[in-house]
Order: sequence, then structure tokens, then C-alpha cells
Amino acid sequence: MNSTRRNFLRAAAGVSALSVLPSRSTAAQSAEVTDEALEKAAARPVLDLKGLNHPVIIESMDLLRKGREYFLRVRSKDGAEGISLDNGRANVLHPILNRLVIPYFIGKDARDLEEHLFGVYRHQDNYKFQGLALWSPVAMVEFAILDLLGRVTGKTIGELLGGVIRKRVPVYIASGRRDTTPEQEVEYLQRLIQENGAKAVKYRVGGRMNRNQDSLPGRTEKLIPLTRKVLGDKIAIHADSNSSYDPPQAIKIGRMLEDINAVYFEEPCPFDNLEATKKVTDALAIPVALGEQEYSHWRFQWTIRNRAADIVQPDLFYYGGLIRSIRVARMAELRDMPTTAHISGGFGFVYMLHFASCVPKIGPWQEYKSGLKQYADWFNPALRIIDGAITVPEGAGVGITDPKEILKGTEVVKG
Ligand SMILES: [Mg+2]
Repeated sequence: MNSTRRNFLRAAAGVSALSVLPSRSTAAQSAEVTDEALEKAAARPVLDLKGLNHPVIIESMDLLRKGREYFLRVRSKDGAEGISLDNGRANVLHPILNRLVIPYFIGKDARDLEEHLFGVYRHQDNYKFQGLALWSPVAMVEFAILDLLGRVTGKTIGELLGGVIRKRVPVYIASGRRDTTPEQEVEYLQRLIQENGAKAVKYRVGGRMNRNQDSLPGRTEKLIPLTRKVLGDKIAIHADSNSSYDPPQAIKIGRMLEDINAVYFEEPCPFDNLEATKKVTDALAIPVALGEQEYSHWRFQWTIRNRAADIVQPDLFYYGGLIRSIRVARMAELRDMPTTAHISGGFGFVYMLHFASCVPKIGPWQEYKSGLKQYADWFNPALRIIDGAITVPEGAGVGITDPKEILKGTEVVKG
């Protein structure tokens, strides 16, 4: 990393984030990271099941539905239970979950979860479905098994995955809109900041996979300076183009984001065009973030080793769960790169909280879209956002106080 970019990172992130940012000496060392070192970091065990000396055999898994919400319930032979929620994709992906993923896990020992993530991928021809379609259902299973193991051992998910190192997670609020004029968008961002007490936001630039065409003519060029002018210098600004640009246009927009001291520029180019993204990363001082659509361990490894981006963003569902995402974070840490989890699903922020509770090198702010109003009271103490940071669940497993109550009125989804 050149000193311009390092200085930029420090200026953009503010004093509180200095500990997660690279120093000159580690940045120099990180240039020498080899594939062997990355593979070794990724291969280290993630799950800590010390003291769990008896098998936890999975007896059943059921996909359940209540209204538009989907749940997965896993039961062990000795009567323990765990549950998970989906990310809004189970209405389409339930056949993959029910026919290709769940059957692999029945009769297996839940303690071997890490190895099962490879086993289910290899099972029959599942790897041919690799992508969001396979890994989202696997993530749902992983979350439910982690909940079960947490309830059996009395540990939170963060404790199971290496140990809790933070109990509050600073977040940016993601706007998610492109239908707004620049003036409307800034007003909307102000409302989000006010409602949530957030210190950081993310908004969308460009036209979303639209080959340089903006969502409204001239929106992005006006929006970027306007946000800084209206929001002031204390709000941390993130921008996401959702694969909108070719490298020349991305570099132009990236320079505008540098001018307002934004934190990062997400998915500047079509997400699977790693060469194009690397060109932009090489040209800009502002960090480039990438990875929400990525499903390949090897491509994350390539992205990290070649520094095609500066920040990696596995989606905890699309990428197949917490354990796989932690392996990415470990590789990124070797290259002095922070990981900022991407969120899908209304409940997804809860899995983000557990991820951020135990991963050492996360970005200064993790993603949050919504969900506190709906889910905060499922936990004891209730989840809260305090001073721009959300509290991490404290109960065993995922931390839901009364799963049986939550599952009341659900019906089994077959097929
Ligand atoms: Mg994005």
C-alpha cells in the first residue's frame, strides 16, 4: 500500500478506527503474502468445541414458514434444538435446501460442522450449483447448527467461533435507493441518521449494472458533493456502485469520492470482472470494497493475494455462512485488509453481529439495513443501537430467548 492510500484510510476512518488500519511496516510485509500462507490461515480450525465430548447427532431438519418468513429448525437425537432465519431467498431456493442440502446432514455429528461444509459441497453434484443458490441454503443450515451447538454448550456463536472480542458493533446505515434525486436522497439519509443515531451511511451511485448509465441523468455527480455538504464532516460516507462502471468511469467517480473523504467505494466495476476492479483499486487512493457476490474461496484468495480490492465483503448467507466467511477474514488479515460483512435478509444483521463479535480485523463500520424494530425484543437484553453501534446478542447460540414462541404458527415447507 502506498503512503497516500494509507494516509487516506486514516483520514477517512477517523481516530477511533486507527487500530484496524495498516501500519507502514505491516503493509510492506503484506506485499509478500504467498498462497501457502493464505491457505494455512484459512485452514486453521474455526470452531471451538472444547469440553463437548459426546456426539451431537443430527436427527432432523425442517424448513418452516410463517407468512413471508422462513425458518430452519434442526434437532439432535438427544432433543437439543437450534433455529435460523433465511435471507428472503428460501421462497425460491427451498427445493435446493430440502433435496440437496438437508439430506446430507441427517445422521451426521454436528461437531464436525467445519468438515461438513466441504462434504455438502461435494455431496452428489452439489458443487455444480455453487453460487448464491447453493450457499444460501448451506448458510441457513450452518446458522441453525451453530445455534444448536451454542445451546448445548451455553456459548454464544461468537464464543464458538474463536471468542468474543467486542460487544458492540459500529454500523453504517445502508440507504439502498436509486429512485431519488440527489436532494431527496440526502433528505432520506438525514432521516436514517436521525432515526438510528448512526455515525455512518452508505448510498448508491451509478445505475446498478448499467454500463456507465446513471439511474437518473447527472444524479451521482451532484449527489456526492451534496452529501458531504449537507451531512457535514462527522458522518462517515460509504458509496456503492453495484457494478455500474467500466474502469475509466469508476476512476472518475472514485476521485469524486476521494474529494469528499469517503470511507470506501464498493463494487466499482462488474463484480466478477476482477481485472477491471484491480485497475480501479490500483489507480485510486480511496479503498475499493468487493465481495458480496463472491462464492469461491479460491477467487477470494486471488483477490486478496493480488490486492484486487482493499476491503473484502463476504455476504454471510450468499457465501455459505460464518465459518467460510471467517476463513476469508483470516486470509485478508494477513494482507492487512479489513473485512466488512455484507448483509442480506432482515435478520441477517444478527449474524453480522456475531461475525463482528469475534473477527479481529473488521472494518470501522459494518453494514446494517434494518431489522432492529422487528427483532430487537427476541433477545434478552433486547438489542439496541447506542451511539451508532449495535449491541451483540448475549444469550446462548444465536441468542433468541424463546425460539419455541417464535416458531408458533409456522408450517413445514416440503419439496
Ligand atoms: Mg453492495
